[in-house]
Amino acid sequence: MKRIEDILRYVEGNHLYPDLQVIEGGAEPEVVIDGKKVLMFSSNSYLGLATHPKIITSAIEATKKYGVGAGGSRMLSGNLKIHRDYELAIAKFKGGEDAIVFSTGYQTNLGVITALMSPLKVGPYDFFRRRSVILSDELNHASIVDGAKASKQKVVVYKHCDMDDLEKKLKKFKHRRKLVVTDGVFSMEGDIAPLDKIATLCKKYNSLLMVDEAHATGVIGKNGHGTLEYFNLKPTVDVDIVMGTHSKALSSVGGFVVGSKNLIKYLRIASRPYIFSAALPPAVSASLITSLRVIESEPNLRILLNKKSGDLREKLNILGFDTLGSQTQIVPVLIGEDEQAIEFSRMLLDKGIYAPCVRWPAVPKHQARLRLTVMSTHSDNQIAYLIKCCESIGKKLKILP
Ligand code: PMP
Repeated sequence: MKRIEDILRYVEGNHLYPDLQVIEGGAEPEVVIDGKKVLMFSSNSYLGLATHPKIITSAIEATKKYGVGAGGSRMLSGNLKIHRDYELAIAKFKGGEDAIVFSTGYQTNLGVITALMSPLKVGPYDFFRRRSVILSDELNHASIVDGAKASKQKVVVYKHCDMDDLEKKLKKFKHRRKLVVTDGVFSMEGDIAPLDKIATLCKKYNSLLMVDEAHATGVIGKNGHGTLEYFNLKPTVDVDIVMGTHSKALSSVGGFVVGSKNLIKYLRIASRPYIFSAALPPAVSASLITSLRVIESEPNLRILLNKKSGDLREKLNILGFDTLGSQTQIVPVLIGEDEQAIEFSRMLLDKGIYAPCVRWPAVPKHQARLRLTVMSTHSDNQIAYLIKCCESIGKKLKILP
């Protein structure tokens, strides 16, 4: 405990402990913090579905019908029909053969990468010996990084979205069993992976390909089906493993994998977080089925989101902020050092805007940033006020000239 106390003293003494605000109200553009109304600019409920009336109704109805919990893991008593209905719905939405659902997105990445890559003994067979390689984009989400580490195979990190670097590394390991893994939309940068080029390289060098669609699902592509739709790619044919979370535009909790029937069948017996964790509450699957319907039937939500985030990005860039190549609803504002980023978000909060900064280890050292996120339900006035506040704070902190 002494070591822990020393660490806490250092972090708090240097004002580096995160400001964990207690938020009253739901995931909406306006919330209450410390009794004060503030604008929320860091929610992942990009389309505002967390408070969509149809989705709320389906969660309430499912709770009345099935109760609040599933009563066990999917392998035992928690294998409810509503969970299977949702798996079939997300498989169809993504254009894949089948799907499996996990209780969090983090567990999904951990569970899938380890099941596919870890050394495994089944009967007389010794699969995936310690000769496999996982090639991972340097800015992939922590759950991918942890899944790769936990698989006990060689992990090779390639430069962010750098196809020359990826090819060089694929070539180097051409005789090994390989998995290339990338975010579809990068969670802290908001840029889109060149998935078409990655898929071509994976075919050329005979590598499995996995994409994390956490921030793309519901948002990217003509119908919100994600990065594969954006590049006109198909699950199984072009991308072996399509993973995603429910905790962003789908506005709930959990994660999924879409792929071939055999991939899903295999994961059900090989993925420990799936086997040893309780199934999601039934209301979650019911609300997710409705969320997918809303995404398909209300394209305006996506159109508004793209327009509003495009405007925000453009205006911040004109002012001179670096938004790190963002192309989506995630609009980072690069600050640099932790202390200044913390100060920036504290000053925003004083002005009634909640936008916590993100720091190492969520992003590389010396690249602390605000991670602004837009919701379809933000008004133009709210976004204009955010820009005005960023401009005045940026000047005060000498980030802007
Ligand atoms: N993948 C990505 C790209 C993410 O951004 C996140 C969450 N921030 C996760 C996986 C983990 O998802 P969850 O929060 O649903 O566990």
